[in-house]
Amino acid sequence: MNEDSGLYDFDPWCIALEPFEGESISHYLGRVERANEWTSYLVGKAAGIGSVIARWKRFHLNPFPTQVQLEALAHILEISPDRLSEMLPKLGESMKPKPIRLCGACFAEVPCHKIEWQYQSVWKCDRHNLKLLSKCPNCEAMFKIPALWEHGRCSRCHMLFKQMQDFQKAG
Ligand SMILES: [Zn+2]
Ligand SMILES: [Zn+2]
Repeated sequence: MNEDSGLYDFDPWCIALEPFEGESISHYLGRVERANEWTSYLVGKAAGIGSVIARWKRFHLNPFPTQVQLEALAHILEISPDRLSEMLPKLGESMKPKPIRLCGACFAEVPCHKIEWQYQSVWKCDRHNLKLLSKCPNCEAMFKIPALWEHGRCSRCHMLFKQMQDFQKAG
């Protein structure tokens, strides 16, 4: 793979990770980069898609990722392009890149950020019938981008995301 690309600093051997159900692309890319000790720059370079990855991790999806870009990235990450596409908003759904939102009850079950929480049309979790949080209920810090959710807790006061379900109001 990539024999003629001159990427001698990139080890193509990849610790491939299984995506969680509903996982957002930002959360997934953060996990894969940490597992492989990669930077977004290196992944983008190896996939031949330039600097878009840092943007995607912030949910800056305009222009929307193309099929060619997704296939190139999926190849590097050793998952199917379709599975990667599922981490992006569905066609016709408007995204709200900010604030990052959370259902603590979902996170307690499956520790990941879900793409649908950033939909313009979504304000509560249908599964738990709870309003989504858009900041830490303990210290009011905004949530960091999901790519940085390594420890599953507030970056300021360290409250665990799964504990935050106790503060969510009924939807
Ligand atoms: Zn939920
Ligand atoms: Zn906090």
